[in-house]
Amino acid sequence: MVSNITPSERLSAFLQYLPTTRDEELVSPPGLGSVWRAGDIRNGLKRQILVVHHSGQGIAFAAFPSGHRAKDCRCVTCLWEYSASDPHSQPLSRERMMQLTAKLRRFRFAQTAEAGFE
Ligand SMILES: [Zn+2]
Repeated sequence: MVSNITPSERLSAFLQYLPTTRDEELVSPPGLGSVWRAGDIRNGLKRQILVVHHSGQGIAFAAFPSGHRAKDCRCVTCLWEYSASDPHSQPLSRERMMQLTAKLRRFRFAQTAEAGFE
C-alpha cells in the first residue's frame, strides 16, 4: 500500500505512544471514538483491519474483506471486533469509562464510505 498520508499531531503522538503500552492498557485512538485495549489496537493495525485514515486525522476501519456478511459474520474484521469489544475481558468501572470518554473528542469515520483503503 502506497501511503502519502500525513498524520495529524495528535495521531502521530498516539502512534508513537502505542508501541510503549502494555496489551491491557486502555487507549483512546483518535478516530475510533472509544476506549480500547492497546493490544487489540496494535493487533488490528498489524493485520490491517484498522488503518490510518487518509485524512491523517485518526484510525479507521479498513474496508471489510470480501467474505464479510451482514449477519453472523466470521470474517477477520468481525472476529477482531467481537474480541476487541468484549466487555467481560476487561472489567472497567462505569465511572472510569465516563472519565475517559468525557476527555475524548468524538468523531467517527464511516466504516466503508471512505475510499482509498484498497
Ligand atoms: Zn465481517
